[in-house]
Amino acid sequence: MSVTFFDITRQNQAVANELSSAIKMVVDSGRYILGENVSLLEKEVAAFVGAKYAVGVSSGTDALHLALRACGIQAGDEVITTPFTFVATVEAIVYCGATPVFVDIEPNSFNLDPAKIEEAISKKCKAIIPVHLYGQACNMTSIMDLASRYKLKVIEDCAQAIGAAFDNRQVGSFGDAGCFSFFPTKNLGCFGDGGLVTTSSATIYEELKVLRGHGSRKTYHYDLIGYNSRLDELQAAIIRIKLPHLTNYLSKRRQNAEFYYKNLTRLKELALPSELISSYHTYNQFTLRSPVRSGLMDALKTQGIGAMVYYPLCLHLQSAYKWLGYSVGAFPESERAQEEVISLPIFPELTEIELSTVCSAIKEYLIK
Ligand SMILES: *Cc1c(COP(=O)(O)O)cnc(C)c1O
Repeated sequence: MSVTFFDITRQNQAVANELSSAIKMVVDSGRYILGENVSLLEKEVAAFVGAKYAVGVSSGTDALHLALRACGIQAGDEVITTPFTFVATVEAIVYCGATPVFVDIEPNSFNLDPAKIEEAISKKCKAIIPVHLYGQACNMTSIMDLASRYKLKVIEDCAQAIGAAFDNRQVGSFGDAGCFSFFPTKNLGCFGDGGLVTTSSATIYEELKVLRGHGSRKTYHYDLIGYNSRLDELQAAIIRIKLPHLTNYLSKRRQNAEFYYKNLTRLKELALPSELISSYHTYNQFTLRSPVRSGLMDALKTQGIGAMVYYPLCLHLQSAYKWLGYSVGAFPESERAQEEVISLPIFPELTEIELSTVCSAIKEYLIK
């Protein structure tokens, strides 16, 4: 029996009628850009996250880029982030003309190590981007404390972590801005690209709306250079159907994680992920470590079981980012993670039979 790594169609089937009628309503309305679905979704997500405002944009990457610009990040500035993230986090910094400054991760959470941030803060440093990787929140108490001591902006990369919390407070509500993605594989996915920024600052909110619409405050008058970065009505309508089910999707992901925690114990060459105290992990990925990863990957592949490596090469070692001047050995924990991590199927609609198929295949490989 094969097990697919990810399948969004199962989730769609469960709300198929609602999706069809929502899509038809948008098509029939004739209003496809910045209509009521986008503005209602913005209110609904802001309320869900616990922020005052939200602005729909065209992707998670644009959410980061526009949020950095709305926070005033510009050429000559430095922005601290992790080298163990999806490339978009760093692209957004470079799009602003700013320089990414990397800080190593904690081995247990794979997130930015708060104890290592302070030594990376220079006079040019203007912001920190904590990435809530795999669906688990960073230690936001430590990060917000550092940011306020050094007067740094905090732009949270929540692309993988909608609904995740730290100390009972949701990601996207701590920093100056929270950046979300609705890419289909994220915990709340649409049928294409989509993103959103949350903020509780009226100034940042207004600036984001201007930036996403070509920099115009008054129709056909431009006082800054903006972008075409709007969320489509169709995508917003689709997300609005799924949002009321998000809490349920997340608890199913957690139940699946629980199954793995119970059934993959005491295996010598396998380390389970850790859920930190104070953190509500949303398991966009269930990511293990194994010193025999490539053999394990091959064994799973042979049995038709999907597994992925997020991420096989840290950003400081990528050729596109050579100019930043980092070399091998600069971030030992991130570099160890790139060699050891392996993510298992974890999407909400997996069946128990599929989960146990994955566990059996892993045990069969590791025990023999
Ligand atoms: C997916 C992702 C993004 C980018 O989101 P898109 O919607 O694909 O542009 C940014 N950061 C992280 C950590 C991501 O996983």
